[in-house]
Amino acid sequence: MTIRTVLGTCHHDCPDSCGWIATVEDGVAVKLRGNPDHPYSQGELCPKVNHFIDRVYSPDRLLTPLIRTGPKGSATFREATWDEALAMVAGRLTDVVDRWGGEAILPWWDAGTQGLIQMSSLDRRFFARLGASQIIGSLCGGTASDGTAATYGSAHAADPMDVRHAGLVLLWGTNTKLTNRHLWPFIEQAGDNGAQIITIDPLRTATAAASDRHIQPLPGTDVALMLAMMHVLIRDGLLDHDYIDNYAVGFEALRDHVAAWTPERAAAVCGVEAETIEELASLYGTVRPAHIRTLIGAEHHENGAMFFRALACLPVLTGSWRELGGGLSKSTHSWANANVDDGVFDPAGRGDSRREINMNHLGRALTDPSMDPPVQALFVWNGNPAVTVPNAELIRRGLERDDLFTVVSEQFMTDTARYADVIFPATTQLEQLDVVTAWGHLYLGWNEPAIAPRGEAVSNTELWRRLAKAMGFEGDDLYQSDQSLIESAITGIDLDLLRREGMVRVDVPTELLPYAEGGFKTASGKAELYSDGLKAQGLDPLPTFRAPAESPGGSSELAGRYPLALLTPKHHSRFLNTSYSHLPKHGPREGGPFVELDPADAAVRGLADGDPVEVWNDRARLTLPARISDRLRPGVVAIPFGWWSEHHGQPATANSLTSDTLTDWGGGVAYSDTLVEVAKAPN
Ligand code: SF4
Repeated sequence: MTIRTVLGTCHHDCPDSCGWIATVEDGVAVKLRGNPDHPYSQGELCPKVNHFIDRVYSPDRLLTPLIRTGPKGSATFREATWDEALAMVAGRLTDVVDRWGGEAILPWWDAGTQGLIQMSSLDRRFFARLGASQIIGSLCGGTASDGTAATYGSAHAADPMDVRHAGLVLLWGTNTKLTNRHLWPFIEQAGDNGAQIITIDPLRTATAAASDRHIQPLPGTDVALMLAMMHVLIRDGLLDHDYIDNYAVGFEALRDHVAAWTPERAAAVCGVEAETIEELASLYGTVRPAHIRTLIGAEHHENGAMFFRALACLPVLTGSWRELGGGLSKSTHSWANANVDDGVFDPAGRGDSRREINMNHLGRALTDPSMDPPVQALFVWNGNPAVTVPNAELIRRGLERDDLFTVVSEQFMTDTARYADVIFPATTQLEQLDVVTAWGHLYLGWNEPAIAPRGEAVSNTELWRRLAKAMGFEGDDLYQSDQSLIESAITGIDLDLLRREGMVRVDVPTELLPYAEGGFKTASGKAELYSDGLKAQGLDPLPTFRAPAESPGGSSELAGRYPLALLTPKHHSRFLNTSYSHLPKHGPREGGPFVELDPADAAVRGLADGDPVEVWNDRARLTLPARISDRLRPGVVAIPFGWWSEHHGQPATANSLTSDTLTDWGGGVAYSDTLVEVAKAPN
């Protein structure tokens, strides 16, 4: 028997990008454990990936190409050879290009794997050769980056691991214990040293419950809370004037602007008592180092970019950027640019004139009769948009179109794959080569394939090479090998060392103090408390609170019909977005979907725990059991994200209800500005 161990890195859409070690016996992966040498994940994986080998060897894996034989959505397929499936796809693409032009083809992908080359590389060249439409925007991350950049000029922020040096930790809109679990020990370290941990979140999450204090604003009102904190900091002189004078612009304009944002005014907006806001601001202005930790959940509002733009002003006012353990930490992805340039994958010699479609508007793109040309062919990989994208009911209607040719690359028969005309079988991370650029820490991770691809599955890069060949395309750029792609995108790091060690820290200072002495990348070279750049774009130049169109408690006609704010949080420790709910050690152990209500909201509707209820708005209607809990405040309900339509027993899922209104800037989407009503389901 041959036994070997292989170093790899988790590829999931998770900030932790854990290092792992696979044990392989005679070509079969038999064990997967965390790499104890990884400085961040420290030898632990998580309840999802602890069972990853079961996922790899699941009897439900798709292992051959499939061609649809039944109605769309029925998941009725027959097996096909690669040659047959490739010929069918190449023929249909050629027909679409001839009749409608390349822009009638829409590629759609997300972070199902967030590895450097398997997430997006050769696909860019392949679809550029077809002249296809381009997707822009993001479900997560882009708005947070662009919002922060409005104040700092870049998305760069603190090293999250430095939270351990903090004297005060504000966990703002992030459920660290669930979605960023390997950071929690560093936060506990700060707590052990006397730091107070405060979570600010509309939901009493596991993180909020484990914190010293939980502040619970109404969804989407955080900017009002921040403005009142600025008001108190300025009113009470809790400022670092030297830092502001040297490294910021626009202080006077900000001071005048927030003068009206008293804690009492903010309290009326965000539902947090004025006294609490006073205490929070006072703590933030006096305890050092004060570390603000956020991630991406808070961007899912109409004012999502403004959340990050306003939050970024706080450590500028207090000069908290001077201190290790201070400042603000969020996604670390931008730091990977020190050594990684995925722009090398972009097609050479083409402008960006091809049609752009925001990925959050997939449903609109598939159903809008004014689309010119209409989308006639859809490619989906690294994602399950029928469940993960807002306004999903519209997507489902689009996928049902008989004249739409849909190609999906997948590991399992997802809600999206059910509607495909052709499915190509995709490899898992144990079967493919990649490098993972983390967004929760500063280490690049190598991923060596541990086993051969199962069945006839191929990696995404191999899929694009096969499709290019089937189309008869010429040019070395379409056929570059995986190793060569990695080598072309990474500079300043010894790849042999990376492969040998499994991880290497990106080339940034050990003590990362990005803005201790200014160094902001804005046009002014300073932190922009007032932004001429935003003003030039017709946006608010100062941090500004604007209530979303779907705003609870308002007097709008919509709020009258739908008085409850809906959140669709990640809730289950065994789920990673929608990737695990269908597997036996995951979905069944989490129970099933439900809608969570505050006792007061349940009482006025005559609902008891476990009652079947309908949740609806103008977009969709969903029937679920009610769960009465004290985790929410009155006026807010929650449906956990991640369940498929089969678990709901109906085509709709949580995202059938959510809003696809785009964020103020950054190309994200306002999932969490969604209004609904709830009532007992008819018998
Ligand atoms: S899903 Fe996240 S926490 Fe779990 S192993 Fe992967 S990177 Fe680590």
